[in-house]
Amino acid sequence: MKVVVIGGGPCGIFSSICIKKNHPDTQVVLLEKDHQIASRIKISGNGRCNFISKNLEESKYSSSFVSHIIKYQKEVLELFEESGLSYYFDDENRGYPTSESSLTIIQALNFLLNKYKVEVKTDYLVTSIVQKEDKIMINDLLPCDKVVVCIGGISYLNERLNYNRIISSLDVKTTPLSPSLAPISVSSFPKDLENKKVKCKVKLLEKGKTIFLEEGEVLFKKDGLSGIVIFNLSSILARRHLKDYSPFEVSLDLLPHVDEKKLASLIKINPKLDTIFIPQLASYLNTFTNPLKTIRDLRFKIRGIYDFKNSQVTSGGISLDQINLDLSLKKNPNIFVGGELIDIDGQCGGYNIGYCLCSGYLIGKEIIK
Ligand SMILES: Cc1cc2nc3c(=O)[nH]c(=O)nc-3n(C[C@H](O)[C@H](O)[C@H](O)COP(=O)(O)OP(=O)(O)OC[C@H]3O[C@@H](n4cnc5c(N)ncnc54)[C@H](O)[C@@H]3O)c2cc1C
Repeated sequence: MKVVVIGGGPCGIFSSICIKKNHPDTQVVLLEKDHQIASRIKISGNGRCNFISKNLEESKYSSSFVSHIIKYQKEVLELFEESGLSYYFDDENRGYPTSESSLTIIQALNFLLNKYKVEVKTDYLVTSIVQKEDKIMINDLLPCDKVVVCIGGISYLNERLNYNRIISSLDVKTTPLSPSLAPISVSSFPKDLENKKVKCKVKLLEKGKTIFLEEGEVLFKKDGLSGIVIFNLSSILARRHLKDYSPFEVSLDLLPHVDEKKLASLIKINPKLDTIFIPQLASYLNTFTNPLKTIRDLRFKIRGIYDFKNSQVTSGGISLDQINLDLSLKKNPNIFVGGELIDIDGQCGGYNIGYCLCSGYLIGKEIIK
């Protein structure tokens, strides 16, 4: 039996390792178009790689389909432990290598690829996957019995042309694609707020009704807002694949932990507000007729999400109705798909790499029955 795995990201690497671990006599070849595997892991979490969460919860994802995939979180961590990886969880349950370097995760993955004897071929761009009688042909050159496709989405540096070529080769239905976990562009604010940060409670409003609420740090960018809490908010919008953002606003409560009475007394002592906020924000708030109300509810109209290049994850992908529970395609059960390529995306906090690793684990468990 020969299995070809396409895409050297967390899903492809983990599925190759798990197939070999479960079936040592199977030949597994991992193909990666770039010169190195795991390029997105390298840059993830600002180079620290938040590779999993302590609790991969279904509510953080776009679909409940994820529940039978993320249940393998414990097994994923056990497999990492076979490599001697040292990791920890921070106060917000985010899992990181104790080295604080994504290179340690890549080292652990390479250790497991070597241990289980996966053949890795880099600089190998796959352009076609075709079933020919009882074999699947990769690029008309490489025959195999089963294929795992995990080429990721089109965020950051992945090209749409490459993505479309693989999708049309698989001949599967996809849902619309939108950039997710990205800054949002909003109505204007003073230029001198650019690059300033504020800790606040953030609400996403649809026609005035709150549909998302989270606390965190917001960064003012040239024409928009950024930060983890804004990235999570963007994922709610991304999953709607919107053309018209006019019903949506973002509201910032700039002092969520100060009650009304205290806030009123602070304003009374110093109406200039520059003993409460940084000067740029204080003078902006003073342009409003009712600063007290504005501090609780600083509103911006949402104009859109930044583009794919500026996003961490692609929302949308191979439609879940095309996929069996074992992640094989309904139209060809010898082809498996996983990771960001399929229509599942998660919020920040290790939910994306964590899910991709679990989907690789599931494929490794199910591919040979
Ligand atoms: C800046 C940034 C920071 C991030 N930080 C985090 C984080 O801290 N925590 C987290 O959980 N998630 C994070 N993510 C998201 C996470 O990296 C992705 O969700 C995850 O890597 C997707 O894994 P995957 O295996 O599905 O695909 P990918 O990691 O995208 O891997 C797919 C691989 O397939 C290869 N490939 C594509 N087409 C072909 C082809 N035709 N032939 C051969 N090879 C091909 C690609 O070169 C790539 O190496 C971050 C993303 C970015 C961009």
